[in-house]
Amino acid sequence: MNTMTDRDTHRVIPLMDQRPSGLTVPAAAFDPGTRLTANGLLSDTRSRALRDLRISVTDRCNFRCNYCMPKEIFGTDYPYLKHADLLTFEEITRLARVFVAHGVQKIRLTGGEPLLRKNLEQLIEQLSALRTPEGKALDITLTTNGSLLARKAQSLKDAGLQRVTVSLDGLDDDVFRSMNDVDFPVADVLEGIEAAHAVGLGPIKINMVVKRGTNEQEILPMARRFKGSAMVLRFIEYMDVGATNGWRMNEVMPSSEVVKLIQSELPLVQLEPSNLGETAQRWGYADALGQHDTAAGEIGVISSVTQAFCGDCNRARLSTEGQLYLCLFAVQGYDLRSLIRGNATDADLQSAIGHIWQGRDDRYSELRSALGPDTGAPVKRVEMSYIGG
Ligand code: SAM
Ligand code: SF4
Ligand code: SF4
Repeated sequence: MNTMTDRDTHRVIPLMDQRPSGLTVPAAAFDPGTRLTANGLLSDTRSRALRDLRISVTDRCNFRCNYCMPKEIFGTDYPYLKHADLLTFEEITRLARVFVAHGVQKIRLTGGEPLLRKNLEQLIEQLSALRTPEGKALDITLTTNGSLLARKAQSLKDAGLQRVTVSLDGLDDDVFRSMNDVDFPVADVLEGIEAAHAVGLGPIKINMVVKRGTNEQEILPMARRFKGSAMVLRFIEYMDVGATNGWRMNEVMPSSEVVKLIQSELPLVQLEPSNLGETAQRWGYADALGQHDTAAGEIGVISSVTQAFCGDCNRARLSTEGQLYLCLFAVQGYDLRSLIRGNATDADLQSAIGHIWQGRDDRYSELRSALGPDTGAPVKRVEMSYIGG
C-alpha cells in the first residue's frame, strides 16, 4: 500500500487572489428587439437546458483540504470577500426566482462551507417558498463538510432543506485529519451524518474525493460502512479545478479502478442513470443472483477527469458575490450583482440570464480529454471554494 500522505505530495502554485473581474452581460439582453422572456425552454449552443443552480453562500471554510483550499494559499492573510460584497439572502432569492422561471428545478447550496454562513436557515426558508412555472416545489439540497451538521441538522430540516451531501474522504481518523488539514476528527462528521439521517435529510449522499497516494486505502472501508445504510456513497475523481492545488494526473485514481477494487469484494451491477444531467454513474450492490439488491443500495462514481460528461451538463453556478459561471472550470463569470444593485428589473434579469445561457458553449472536461490530461486547464481558473462544487 502506498503510505505517502497529502503533505508529502503537496505542491502549490502560489497565486494569491484568483477572483477574476466579471464579464459584462451581452448588450443584446437590453435591446428592445432582442430581449428575452423566460419560458422554461432555455437552451445553450449545444442544446443543453438550464436545470440545476449551485449557489455559493460563502468563500470561507473551516477546513483546509489541500485539493481545494491549501493552507499555504488560504492562510490567515487570505483576502476573503467582505460582508458587503456577498449577495444578501434577498438578492440570492430574487436571482433564484429568475433562474427558476428559466427552468431551474434544483438548487444546491455550497461554498466554501455553507454552514458557516450566518442564519442560512432563513435563506433556505425563502428558497423553499419558490415554485416552478408548473407550481412544483424545488429540490433544495446542500453540500457540507459535515463539521457543523450535528448541531444544525434539525434547524435545516425545519427550514425546508430536503437533503444533504456530506463530504467524507475516509474513515481512518489520521487520514481524515491530515486531509482536512485542521486536525478535525472524523467522529464528529460521522455524528453529523447520523443527525442528518435521524431528522430525515435524505437520501443522504456521501462524497469521497479519491486522491491516489493519499486515501485510496479508504475506498473499501467506506464501501463496507455505507452498504445497506440507505446513503449513497460517491467516489469523485480528483479534479484540476482552481489554480492552487498543484493537480497532477498521476494523483487521479480513475473511477474504473475504484469500481474494480470494490467489485473484488462486493459484487456490483451497473444501473441506469436516474435523470438527465446526472454527474454520477450508478452501480448497485448485487445479490447472489447478480441482480441489484435494493436493500444493500448503490454507489456512484463521478469520472470528471477520465470520462467527461459535458454533453448534458445543465448546471449554472452563482458565486458568493453574484457572478454567474457557466462551467466549473471557467476563467470568468458574468456580473449579476452589478445588475441587481443597479436598477435592473426582474424582466431585465430574465433577459440577461437568458442571453448568457443561450451563448454558452462550455465543455472543458471534453476538451481536456481530447487534448490529453496533462495539458491541464488555463492557470487563472476560478477556485472551487469561490464558486462552489
Ligand atoms: N465545503 C463543502 C464540502 O466540502 O462539502 C462544500 C464545498 S466543496 C468545494 C464541494 C465538493 O467539492 C466537496 O465534495 C469536495 O470534496 C469537492 N472538491 C473540492 N475540490 C475538489 C477537487 N480538486 N477535485 C474533486 N472534488 C473536489
Ligand atoms: Fe472546505 Fe469543502 Fe473545500 Fe474542503 S472541499 S476546503 S471542506 S470547501
Ligand atoms: Fe459542465 Fe464544465 Fe463540468 Fe463540462 S467541465 S460537465 S461543461 S461544469
